[in-house]
Amino acid sequence: MQFRDLKKQYQVLKSEIDKAMIETAESGAFIMGKAVKELEKSLAEYVGVKHCIGCANGTDALTLALKVWNIGAGDAVFVPDFTFFATAEVVSLEGATPVFVDVDSDTFNIDTKKLTESIEKVIQEGKLTPKVIITVDLFGLPADYQEVRKIANKYNLYILEDGAQGFGGAINGKRACSFGDISTTSFFPAKPLGCYGDGGAVFTDNDEWAVVLDSLRVHGKGSFKYDNVRIGVNSRLDTLQAAILKVKLDAFKNYEVEDINKAAKLYTEKLKGIVKTPIIPEGYYSSWAQYTIQLENREQRDRLQAFLKENGIPSMVYYPKPLNEQTAYHSLNYAIGSNPVTSKLCETVLSLPIHPYIPNEDIMLVCEKVIECLKQG
Ligand SMILES: *Cc1c(COP(=O)(O)O)cnc(C)c1O
Repeated sequence: MQFRDLKKQYQVLKSEIDKAMIETAESGAFIMGKAVKELEKSLAEYVGVKHCIGCANGTDALTLALKVWNIGAGDAVFVPDFTFFATAEVVSLEGATPVFVDVDSDTFNIDTKKLTESIEKVIQEGKLTPKVIITVDLFGLPADYQEVRKIANKYNLYILEDGAQGFGGAINGKRACSFGDISTTSFFPAKPLGCYGDGGAVFTDNDEWAVVLDSLRVHGKGSFKYDNVRIGVNSRLDTLQAAILKVKLDAFKNYEVEDINKAAKLYTEKLKGIVKTPIIPEGYYSSWAQYTIQLENREQRDRLQAFLKENGIPSMVYYPKPLNEQTAYHSLNYAIGSNPVTSKLCETVLSLPIHPYIPNEDIMLVCEKVIECLKQG
């Protein structure tokens, strides 16, 4: 069994993807070919924002956003403690300071009450200037944007939505990657919408920022390519990846998001009452980058993971360590257990195989094995 079956997806879409790849090779336009603009237009329409700017990966997408806002030394950027390293890494790379905020134990997303407390604390200490809240739509579920927006307005902060895992999710029909002042996503192969290598995109409704983003991704180019008006980076989305993504976006829109939601529903039906299954708040829609259950403690989680492995079932621990405990962040001097919910989740979460092409029999088998293992006490 595959954790996320990308080979099967390719078999289904093979004729169209092969055609797109060959057309790109024949066109010779490998950088900023016409598929890039076409894809950007379709992505912006799907998400419901004015501008989409493709780039080299989801990490660069976050970096580009921070650069638009001139985030740097002395600035505080609030980041959930329970996420992939890149969400905080980009903040440090710009010279600013990430402030790690605990998450909600039901949604895995930033805890808005603790976010307010963190902001107040930074203001009181007076060393850093609060500038940005980075929300992460973890495992495919959008963060609580209604509350986060109120907080951002109150303290005059930007929202940067890290939608690397959230693409395809929604709140009351409004799609993920439209909630931030700037939003980003990743097309890393295993993400909800993945390409065949690295890729990413930035979304915004702001016309001026869109122009700056377009410049920043090509060395800070001006209206004429060899007049560079700012210091930028080299971070374009390859034509080949854009051509592949065009095919995959159609499948994504037409049935993949729906099918993965059916898979998640079946898991929840079978596992409810046996383990803590993911909670999707009223009006929210997940794109299920992961299906993550919570066990009682580390011993039970590790035992279940080993048992599944013995039975040929892959599973993953996302994430085993809070960001504040990462070796690279020891210098920030967080006390162990500073964010207790995150610490607990790191010990108890387990992500099960899920993707739009998973057969029901596989889900039934995984659930059967989970139940069998937990019955053993
Ligand atoms: C994958 C991921 C990223 C980084 O995306 P890349 O394309 O791998 O650079 C950033 N944030 C989150 C939450 C992610 O899951």
